[in-house]
Amino acid sequence: VLCVSQDFDFFYFVQQWPGAYCDTKHTCCYPKSGKPTADFGIHGLWPNYKDGGYPSNCDPDSVFDKSQISELLTSLNKNWPSLSCPSSNGYRFWSHEWEKHGTCSESELDQKEYFEAALKLREKVNLLQILKNAGIVPNDELYNLESIVEAIKVGVGHTPGIECNKDSAGNSQLYQIYLCVDTSGQDIIECPLLPKGRCASKIQFPKF
Ligand code: 5GP
Ligand code: 5GP
Ligand code: 5GP
Repeated sequence: VLCVSQDFDFFYFVQQWPGAYCDTKHTCCYPKSGKPTADFGIHGLWPNYKDGGYPSNCDPDSVFDKSQISELLTSLNKNWPSLSCPSSNGYRFWSHEWEKHGTCSESELDQKEYFEAALKLREKVNLLQILKNAGIVPNDELYNLESIVEAIKVGVGHTPGIECNKDSAGNSQLYQIYLCVDTSGQDIIECPLLPKGRCASKIQFPKF
């Protein structure tokens, strides 16, 4: 019997701050098109279970097919740039995200719908503006983790998860922001479970 019931509980919609990806001990590489805008970019839309576990690589037969997202290219390049090395035009990153995560929500979203859903969520939530409204800007200064959480809670209406990484000097800094989304991929919801954040109580918001 073909099982068509829900095979995950919610999505994490994860955005990354490019400044924090680039100033770690790893290198980063700009896409061929040049340095991305100093704004949050999409990392991924990740199916998750309420207990914190998650499915991955769910359908080896559903390989990434770039022809399905040709209409979304302009928006993907702007909102979902890849900063890993060697420099790439994004297809490697998108392909990785589709095959590892997207194939696990295929019961809800086909490949085009998956990328569209992430782009729509990105449009709906302007994290940089929300933070700016609260006086929180990427200027290498330290901010209270709580004030960042509070600003996003006010701006989005739901509590975000904040993930930190470390710059090359070892300072805790704002790396990724997690919002939770219902299984349709459309509506932001309260997180059933917040991700482990690894943040200090005061964190840097690095320039990019
Ligand atoms: P890291 O080890 O950098 O935290 O995560 C590495 C990769 O594991 C991420 O890029 C992502 O693909 C996956 N991952 C990490 N945490 C989660 C999670 O809470 N949910 C899901 N669905 N994937 C995760
Ligand atoms: P995850 O498995 O954690 O969803 O995604 C991380 C993978 O995507 C890693 O293999 C990483 O090298 C690749 N990747 C490519 N571009 C980027 C980027 O801009 N940010 C992050 N975090 N990972 C990227
Ligand atoms: P991945 O699963 O992305 O290959 O690598 C695991 C972790 O290493 C990622 O979560 C990411 O933080 C880091 N990483 C991988 N490739 C790069 C890179 O090119 N630049 C930076 N800054 N970090 C990377």
